[in-house]
Amino acid sequence: MNPKYIFITGGVASSLGKGIIASSLAKLLQARGLRVTIQKFDPYINIDPGTLNPYEHGECYVTEDGAETDLDLGHYERFLGVHMSKANNVTTGKIYNTVITKEREGAYLGKTVQIVPHITDEIKRRMLLLGKTGDYDIILTEIGGTVGDMESQPFVEAVRQLQWELPEEDCMSVHLTLIPYLSAAKELKTKPTQHSVQMLQQSGVKPDVIVCRTEHPLNQELRRKIALFCNVKPGHVIQSIDAWSIYQVPLNMHEEHLDELAVRKLQIENFNEPNLTRWKQFLTRLQNPAHTVNITLVGKYVELQDAYKSIQEAFVHAGAANKCKVNLKTVQSENVNAENVDEILKDAEGILVAPGFGERGLEGKVCAVKYAREKGIPFLGICLGMQMCVVEFARNVLGWPDAASMEVNPDSGHPVICLMEEQKKTKIKGGTMRLGAYDCRLEAGSLAAKLYGKTDIRERHRHRFEFNSQYLEDFQKAGMIATGRNPESGLVEVVELPSHPFFIGTQFHPEYKSTPEHPHPLFDGLVAAALKYQENN
Ligand code: GLN
Repeated sequence: MNPKYIFITGGVASSLGKGIIASSLAKLLQARGLRVTIQKFDPYINIDPGTLNPYEHGECYVTEDGAETDLDLGHYERFLGVHMSKANNVTTGKIYNTVITKEREGAYLGKTVQIVPHITDEIKRRMLLLGKTGDYDIILTEIGGTVGDMESQPFVEAVRQLQWELPEEDCMSVHLTLIPYLSAAKELKTKPTQHSVQMLQQSGVKPDVIVCRTEHPLNQELRRKIALFCNVKPGHVIQSIDAWSIYQVPLNMHEEHLDELAVRKLQIENFNEPNLTRWKQFLTRLQNPAHTVNITLVGKYVELQDAYKSIQEAFVHAGAANKCKVNLKTVQSENVNAENVDEILKDAEGILVAPGFGERGLEGKVCAVKYAREKGIPFLGICLGMQMCVVEFARNVLGWPDAASMEVNPDSGHPVICLMEEQKKTKIKGGTMRLGAYDCRLEAGSLAAKLYGKTDIRERHRHRFEFNSQYLEDFQKAGMIATGRNPESGLVEVVELPSHPFFIGTQFHPEYKSTPEHPHPLFDGLVAAALKYQENN
């Protein structure tokens, strides 16, 4: 079978959940026994979102092979349980970078380099790339932005050309739009969708299926109307009604026959009904929690919902695993200080101090760590959160009030967190952190090793600074133990306080690897410990 390509575009408004629709369709096809992956093409000019403030674009998701990517790739991994890679996230910046480099090398000698064909050819080459590996039956491509944006035009043009070049049965186009509900008129309105599809068709792309985001069910009459004006068969207009959980969407899409439409259009023979047993088991647990537990996330990007996406999702997975609903409260670390920390964290049955960069909100994080350490509240610190555990311990247990991370105080008398050796040479900011998966060896008998159920693990990273090993002996003598280290470099990956019921700091980011079907052991452990804390208090 040739690899099949499904293209997903969006119209009318952004934030309709194209990533969730792409992930849901992919999940259903995977559950039918097909090998599936998803890639995202983003129209912005940054090479990757690594240098973007989370306020701009939400969380930066990191893949196993060290790509800094759009947060939708996190959804792809969580739904599919397969690893994404550098090839799965392409931006306009990457496309132009390749074309301009080739131009300078002389690859187009004699030619005027233009959007069509040179940019569109490079987009098409990248769109087909994963299909050439032989690893996948189906490649879904999500086009970022909305149809009609100036920036996404070359991508839509590339889809048009591929629809024309590929055999009819190897290519499918799905368009996601919004059907707004006017409460004054008590009516669902189809006109924006008609316009959006018109715009898509003016670009030469004919959608095979129109997925309509809606707050109210679409009746047959409305579906017929959309179908007629948008030139698709009535059965090819499907609704995506607001769901109680994003993880419910694959089941909703199956009920609307989206996967069936795909296997028919792509002429995939001998397909099975999707096997979603494990997925449904997860949903049942998620929907029927026996307890509720309060966990507080202390971070500096808390105003934006998407800034800590993977952490939030990891708590959903861990909650379901523990048959409990995690009430995740977020606290702006800038607002936390020694005077109010008690008031702010008094309800917390578990505390997570988030990753981050720079000085803002740092002292609030240190206060939160101190509170968790002294009160015996289950605690997980991730990346910068772990680094603040080290700073806090140095100041308040080792008695070094000037202890700091060199990220904010390069002249500290006790630089307990220091710049990694290989980082000292880097001048360029984009893509130069310690990124992606590295091995970590856990101390047998440590809390981390118990939670993972093994001592050799691999986790993902995104940092420039590290625990300053020069001070390791002092820390260990005073009770903070390095229970996880990189086997080659010795870099400290995990710190623990064995005297505390549950206190772990990790230099790596466990949240990237948590999925509904495989909740992450550290989040699972934190939620379980929070439940125990609740019982005892
Ligand atoms: N700013 C810290 C560093 O570079 C932590 C990074 C993070 O939390 N991802 O090392």
